[in-house]
Amino acid sequence: MKNLSMHVRVMLMTGAFLWTGATHAQKGKAPASDPVRTAVEDAYNKYKDLKEGKNADYIPALAEVPSTLFGVSLVTVDGRTYDQGDVRSMVSIQSISKVFTLARNVEDWGAQAIQDKIGVDATGEVFNSITAIERMRGKEINPLVNPGAIASSSMVKGTTYEEKWNAILAVHSDMAGRQLTVNQPVYESEAATNQRNQAIAHLLFAYERMYWDPVKSTDVYTKQCAINVNARDLATMAATLANGGVNPVTGKRVVSPETVQYVLAVMATAGLYDDSGIWLYNTGLPGKSGVGGGLIAVCPGKFGIAVVAPPLDAAGNSVKGQRVIYDVVKALQANPYLVQPKLSAPAKR
Ligand code: GLN
Repeated sequence: MKNLSMHVRVMLMTGAFLWTGATHAQKGKAPASDPVRTAVEDAYNKYKDLKEGKNADYIPALAEVPSTLFGVSLVTVDGRTYDQGDVRSMVSIQSISKVFTLARNVEDWGAQAIQDKIGVDATGEVFNSITAIERMRGKEINPLVNPGAIASSSMVKGTTYEEKWNAILAVHSDMAGRQLTVNQPVYESEAATNQRNQAIAHLLFAYERMYWDPVKSTDVYTKQCAINVNARDLATMAATLANGGVNPVTGKRVVSPETVQYVLAVMATAGLYDDSGIWLYNTGLPGKSGVGGGLIAVCPGKFGIAVVAPPLDAAGNSVKGQRVIYDVVKALQANPYLVQPKLSAPAKR
């Protein structure tokens, strides 16, 4: 406890986290000195000059995004926003989109349908693994790695490309609280080089685990990965999950609390691919990364946090993103597995 400020200690003892106590008048504005602001600022400053990692380059357009881009945003369930660095520059959402397409599907088809038709277990393998599909004969692939995600896009309600795409874009926009658009150069760049994802879709199709045309499903998935977002959008999307499916900035109910609980469970076990265990060990929070450099984490009932910083580690996760969120979670004692023992005397038996 020695590194904790008095303020945080008092919050912990009283159980009153600052972000649950915001009044309507404070909405959107953070007070001058508060531990959340300090935690976000400290983490940003600590890592802003870190040079580790490398932009993804298997999608040619991603290699051209400035590696120095760095923004951190935290949005609380009562709509307060804490921004640091460049929270306005856009990157493609990439794999983080898998979370929101999954949310759409759980909402529309129910949790059981996803478990049965895609699977919800971690593969423990890289995000675009083909051996994972072969090993499981198309089963038990979760919706947050490429095979399960392409199957998930194929399942989205609608019979035409237009209907499915509109449903996908709408759920992303509602989570972000504004109309999002596609980064056309990134979409075209990936569409021209996504032969591996096409192979994945066809292999799943052969195992009867693809629920629409595999070519069109891969295309709609590729487009969803190219949706443009900034750190503020991602933090708002994460905060909508933290707030049981209601966007805390716009007040719109996007999905139900029941849907969110299932989405968060898959994020906890598979959100950072084969490094998901390391992530959960260090944060206790459901998270999701994308090869565009975005990373989100959800602290249920409290806040969503996002980092945009393109250089990635070997697993494909933002290096700065992971460090920043580890530090903020620690500073705020936001790991839900960290429980302060009850100090009352044990009941007489
Ligand atoms: N569009 C990317 C792909 O399919 C997304 C991967 C990712 O962000 N991990 O390869």
